[in-house]
Amino acid sequence: MPLFGSDNKTKNSLDGLWIKCNNCGEIIYKKEVEKNLKVCPKCNYHFRLSSEEWIDILIDQNSFHELWPDIESIDPLDFKDRTRYRDKLKETQKQTGKKDAIVTGYGLINELFVHIGIFDFNFMGGSMGSVVGEKITRLIEKTAEERSNLLIVTSSGGARMQEGIFSLLQMAKTNAALSRLNGSKSLYMSLLTDPTTGGVAASFASIADIIIAEPKALIGFAGPRVISDTIGQKLPEGFQRAEFLLEHGMIDMVVERKVIKKTIAQIIRLLGNTERKTVQL
Ligand SMILES: [Zn+2]
Repeated sequence: MPLFGSDNKTKNSLDGLWIKCNNCGEIIYKKEVEKNLKVCPKCNYHFRLSSEEWIDILIDQNSFHELWPDIESIDPLDFKDRTRYRDKLKETQKQTGKKDAIVTGYGLINELFVHIGIFDFNFMGGSMGSVVGEKITRLIEKTAEERSNLLIVTSSGGARMQEGIFSLLQMAKTNAALSRLNGSKSLYMSLLTDPTTGGVAASFASIADIIIAEPKALIGFAGPRVISDTIGQKLPEGFQRAEFLLEHGMIDMVVERKVIKKTIAQIIRLLGNTERKTVQL
């Protein structure tokens, strides 16, 4: 394993003994970053996490129970560009050990019950196709049925283009489910991590009761280059970053990873359902 790869994938990964920070460029000892919840000790850059790492950080030990792990896409359009979509899916499933880009389930956060969905950016850029939309919808419905608390941790490039209109439909489907959740008076929290963009940012991620973001996370619909080219203007400093969105009233808080679990537990205690304190595994 090379210490530093020349391509982005290797450079950004935490394989090997040392890593280079994407933000400050410092070369850091991997173990030091891991001990720091994968936050750069030099500049506070929050590295991207897998769903397993999020479960470790957020959910009390041995309390996570996964729901619907086996749902997979049927390639509704029989889509093909350079490769067939179904082949790409199979290959990604083999690489990641997951069926699609979200893990859903329930567990305890500081002994408080939550239904939780966590995106995996490693799976086709965390894109939302029919599987992600279906799992989120089921999770929302379950939360409403049990009047519990819902947390969705996003990291996504947006809708999955290989599923065309079926992926865009998920935006409406998840939002319709959320309006029913609203009727059940359950708490819905959204945690936006870097990056949360496209159809995910433009649907359920942005309409939570409490919208939290990680420091410096990129959050927006279209990317900054597309917007800048379209309007023919230079964008302001920090445009589409979490801090900028907080300042402009689009999100409720920017929370550092080291206090995220405590913060979410506090929100549940203040606004959520605190009656349920056990999980059935
Ligand atoms: Zn750094």
